[in-house]
Amino acid sequence: MVVIFIQFNYPHITNSIVNAVYTRTNSSFSSVLDVSIQNRRFLNISSKPQVIVTPLDVSHIQATIICAQRHGLQIRTRSGGHDYEGLSYVVGVPFVILDLINLRGIEIDVENSTAWVEAGATLGELYYRISQKSKTLGFPAGECPPVGVGGHFSGGGYGYMMRKYGLAADHVIDAKIVDVNGNLLDKETMGEDLFWAIRGGGGASFGVIVAWKIKLVPVPSTVTVFNVSRTLEENATEIIQKWQRVANKMDERIFIRVDVKKVNSSEHGKQTIQANFVSMFQGGVEELIPLMQKTLPELGLDRKDRTETSWIGSVVFANVVLGGSSVNEAHEVLLNRTRFRERIIAKAISDYVMKPIPVERVMALAL
Ligand SMILES: Cc1cc2nc3c(=O)[nH]c(=O)nc-3n(C[C@H](O)[C@H](O)[C@H](O)COP(=O)(O)OP(=O)(O)OC[C@H]3O[C@@H](n4cnc5c(N)ncnc54)[C@H](O)[C@@H]3O)c2cc1C
Repeated sequence: MVVIFIQFNYPHITNSIVNAVYTRTNSSFSSVLDVSIQNRRFLNISSKPQVIVTPLDVSHIQATIICAQRHGLQIRTRSGGHDYEGLSYVVGVPFVILDLINLRGIEIDVENSTAWVEAGATLGELYYRISQKSKTLGFPAGECPPVGVGGHFSGGGYGYMMRKYGLAADHVIDAKIVDVNGNLLDKETMGEDLFWAIRGGGGASFGVIVAWKIKLVPVPSTVTVFNVSRTLEENATEIIQKWQRVANKMDERIFIRVDVKKVNSSEHGKQTIQANFVSMFQGGVEELIPLMQKTLPELGLDRKDRTETSWIGSVVFANVVLGGSSVNEAHEVLLNRTRFRERIIAKAISDYVMKPIPVERVMALAL
């Protein structure tokens, strides 16, 4: 198949689309394809695109859309490559990958507490850039730094600050999107319905998101984190039951998640279940202590369990919980796009429940 790309404008030779096109015969094709396959389940898949385009500017996205239509190719848009089903790069028909890895500029406007972030940027890059400009601004999105803002914001996006601030999509105040006809639209020109749809309905159904304008949120200069483990022998069952009853009534600055896993028991040759209570509180230790004593004293939180840090420090902490090495790691670790790739071989779903989940069901989830 011969694929011909139309160049809409020629701003500068380095931005020529020729530098952004990888056909199967290109020696970099496999590495460009693999670098954003974030789930090992899909590393050796047979579904390969005819061509990968890594746009250097918006005109390359427009050209790819028009060209793909002419040649009967489907398009898959990839930002961070974290889709649990590999939907940004796995297809059963001939297709093109529009990989936005080169479109990841971030402009922070501290005075107005806003930012423009291009779709190919990761959450880690966004958090890091915010922290470089301000110690008291943050953004309420997910906890895994290499996740792309292109897929994440268009699907909602929740994280450690969701109880106070809701979803990432709730804080999108403008967007640039290229539609099926190659038109570049913003909030005003796309209209209310489309602007509503791309903030939760998934961007790929509607076009290619180029960039988001977001409203940043205030964060205190000191936040507190903890990661406390309790096994069945240490009352994990009772604490989980209580946590389910009080989690939504606690001060909205406290977020506590619970991960359950199987571990070796202190009794030789036996296994037990361990629950990890992982938390971020938007405030200092002295304020957190009475709040925890009032609402979840069963956890028996000790002063030594808690660490005060900055908001960006809490993001690194969440990273440690995911498998990073130390809470004191340099913040630059957030810029690593492939850090956890070798570990992710997972399928996950999220759900909302109105009634507590029976604790046996929670325990049955332990791997
Ligand atoms: C390890 C891991 C941790 C996660 N943690 C969280 C979390 O803490 N909170 C949370 O809410 N979610 C979390 N998720 C889910 C994650 O937010 C979604 O999978 C999200 O869609 C990934 O976005 P992406 O850009 O990285 O993925 P991609 O695979 O690039 O894209 C995902 C989907 O969005 C489409 N898309 C991507 N970019 C664009 C664009 N620019 N324009 C139009 N469509 C686009 C793709 O075509 C695909 O359908 C996590 C997922 C993983 C694998």
